[in-house]
Amino acid sequence: MHSCHSDGILSGAELIALAAQRNVECLSITDHDAISVYADILDNPPEQLQIIVGCEFSSVWGATTVHIVGLNLDLNSSVLKEAMQIQNSARIMRSESIAANLEKRGFAGALEGAKTIAGQASIGRPHFARFLIDNGHAKDHKQAFKKYLGAGKIGDVKAQWQPIEQICRWIADAGGVAVLAHPLKYKLTQTKLKCLVQDFKQAGGQAIEVISGFQPTDKTRIISKLADEFDLYASVGSDFHQPGQPWADLGMIPDLPKQCRPVWDLWL
Ligand code: AMP
Ligand code: MN
Repeated sequence: MHSCHSDGILSGAELIALAAQRNVECLSITDHDAISVYADILDNPPEQLQIIVGCEFSSVWGATTVHIVGLNLDLNSSVLKEAMQIQNSARIMRSESIAANLEKRGFAGALEGAKTIAGQASIGRPHFARFLIDNGHAKDHKQAFKKYLGAGKIGDVKAQWQPIEQICRWIADAGGVAVLAHPLKYKLTQTKLKCLVQDFKQAGGQAIEVISGFQPTDKTRIISKLADEFDLYASVGSDFHQPGQPWADLGMIPDLPKQCRPVWDLWL
């Protein structure tokens, strides 16, 4: 799930309160290229909820942007701190390019606008979406992506993300487990997806997100087969950003298929 330290709405404390209300036993907040939420919550850890420190790293595989979740990271790791700085710089540079493209299109003040909306959070396209909506250029988030920010549109700027090998190395060096996030979101052919999973495994990846949000069982079957074939642990992600999202909700994830080995078996 995501907090207001990236493109989610809730604070760490609010996420934890909602999770506790829903009887969640174990969770990880995986902000995009940021771990700052943990500074807020680990001083005051909840009693009946295990928190696994995590982060969703943006990465690149060939020409495809992919997301790799690092779970069970050591917050004191110097490698992790350095990795966050590198990721953050890439995000800032990308936001400048996105803004330049939007400004050329006549949307003045895009950079300042998105930065103000992001505040202390790790800046991303959803903040530009908010800027476009607030200024009457798009009617909602979905339209902002469809017209300006989604794949192939002017705001879909390729950032200088690190390759999957580097991300997996950072995660391992920080004591964590690398998980390939939402494999079906990259819209790869079956053959290419298999290549990605193979390369990910080769890079030291240990787990794959078998379930992402309210996912139909036929999709779950495709990914659990890949987990089996490449001997990967299975993870589940809500991709929760805010209450009321149609595609996901906190603590409402379907169960993993029986043959999967849950990634949390590694540390529970
Ligand atoms: P970024 O990390 O800046 O590339 O933004 C990625 C986030 O934007 C994702 O986690 C989604 O929340 C959102 N997003 C990406 N693509 C779309 C899309 N086509 N429609 C709506 N939201 C999207
Ligand atoms: Mn993602």
